[in-house]
Amino acid sequence: MAQIKELRCCVCGRTYAPDEVQYVCPVCGDIGTLDVLYDYDALKNIFDRETFVSSRPGMWRYKTLLPITPNAKVPPLPVGGTPLYDSPRLAKALGVKQAWMKDDGRNPTASLKDRASALVTAKAMESNIGVISAASTGNAAAALAGVGASVGLRIVIFVPATAPEAKIAQLLVYGAEVLLVEDSYDVAFDLCFELSQQEGWLCRNTGINPFTAEGKKTVSYEIADALHWDVPDVVVTSVGDGNIIAGVHKGFWDLHQLGWIDRIPRLIGVQAVGCSPLVEAWKNNTNAVDIKPVQTNSIADSIVASLPRDRAKALRAVNETHGAFVAVTDEEILASIPQLARLTGVFAEPAAAASFAGAQRAVKSGYIHPNESVALLITGNGLKDIKSAQSAVSGGLRVPPDLEAIRRVFHP
Ligand SMILES: *Cc1c(COP(=O)(O)O)cnc(C)c1O
Ligand SMILES: [Zn+2]
Repeated sequence: MAQIKELRCCVCGRTYAPDEVQYVCPVCGDIGTLDVLYDYDALKNIFDRETFVSSRPGMWRYKTLLPITPNAKVPPLPVGGTPLYDSPRLAKALGVKQAWMKDDGRNPTASLKDRASALVTAKAMESNIGVISAASTGNAAAALAGVGASVGLRIVIFVPATAPEAKIAQLLVYGAEVLLVEDSYDVAFDLCFELSQQEGWLCRNTGINPFTAEGKKTVSYEIADALHWDVPDVVVTSVGDGNIIAGVHKGFWDLHQLGWIDRIPRLIGVQAVGCSPLVEAWKNNTNAVDIKPVQTNSIADSIVASLPRDRAKALRAVNETHGAFVAVTDEEILASIPQLARLTGVFAEPAAAASFAGAQRAVKSGYIHPNESVALLITGNGLKDIKSAQSAVSGGLRVPPDLEAIRRVFHP
C-alpha cells in the first residue's frame, strides 16, 4: 500500500493532509490541481522494482504505488496491461532510431480513461460512496460507466450532445444516467461539478479529482516496466485537458523518485490547431494562471477543451522535461488514422492518431532527433469514431456475385 503523505497544489505548492481537501487547492481554486505524494524513502525500503515481476498484469500490478489499501477491493475489469509494440516500420516512417506504440485503445472500454475511472471507482468503493458523476467529451464517461457497471455503482454522466454516437451508445449500454448537455464540454464540466457538490456525489471530473492522474500514471509504469526500466528518450501524447500528460509525467516522476529509472523522458504534447491553448502558452511562455479560454474547432473531440482543466500540470510536464507542445491540423489528424493503421495494425480514434501526426511534426521541428527513441501513446480505439475514420479513407469495390466478373477486376 502506498499511504498518501500529502496532497500538494501544483500552482502554489501548499500541502494538505489527504482528508483535508477533496478536489482542488482551496486557495488557488480550479487551476490549483493537486499532486498525490507519498513517502518515497519509506517506499524504497519496503520493496523494489523486482517486486512487480511476479505480480499480475494490469494497472493493479502497481497497487503498492497507488493510493489504496492493500486489501482494497478493485473493479474486476482488466484495466491496463496494454501492449507496447516495438515497431521498426513506424520508426522508419518517423525517421527515428526506435519507436514504440502503447495501445491503450485495448482497455475494456477502449480508451486510456479506464485507468482513471478504475482508480476513482476503487476510491469510491473504499469510502462506500454509491454515486459517481463525470463530465466528459465521451471517453472518460464511457470508462466510468463501464467500470461503474462492473461493480454496480450508480453513474451520472454529463456529455456535450455532440459527442460521437459510439461513445454515447457506450454510456447508455452500460446503464449510466446520461445528460446530453446542449453546449460545450467546458459548460458540461461546470454543471456536473456544481450538481455533484449539491447532491453529494463523488465527482470524477478530469483534473479537479486528484486521482484521475494517479490512475493514468500507470501507463508510464507499464512502459518503463516493459522496457526493463530503460525508458524512451521521448513520449508523445495528445492533449486536451492535460490530465493524461500530467499523469504520464507523474508516473515517470514517481519512478525517478524511487530511483528505478535514471531519467524522465521528454514529454511532447500534441493539440489540434483548432484547439491549442497549451501550444500557445508554451510558445509564449505564458503562466498557466494567465491562460484564457479559446474558441474551439476540431474533429478530434477527445482533445477539445476550451480551457484545459489540468493546464498547470500539463505545462509543468513539458517544461520540466524539456519537451515541447506541437499543433496539428485536422487534415493531418485524419490522414494519420490510416497511415498509423497501415504501419502498425493499430486503429486509433482521431485524438489518438494525433500523437502520430504530432510526432511527425516534432521530428520536422527538431524536437525529436533521428538518433532517439520514441513512444507514442495511442489513447483511444478507432471504433470510437467511425465517421471520422471513414472520411479519411475510400475504396471498396461493388461487384456482382459472379466469379468471372470479380476475376476481371484483378486481370483486366
Ligand atoms: C481524454 C483523451 C485525450 C486527452 O487527454 P486529456 O487528459 O484531456 O489531455 C486524448 N486522447 C483520447 C482518446 C482521450 O480520450
Ligand atoms: Zn494552491
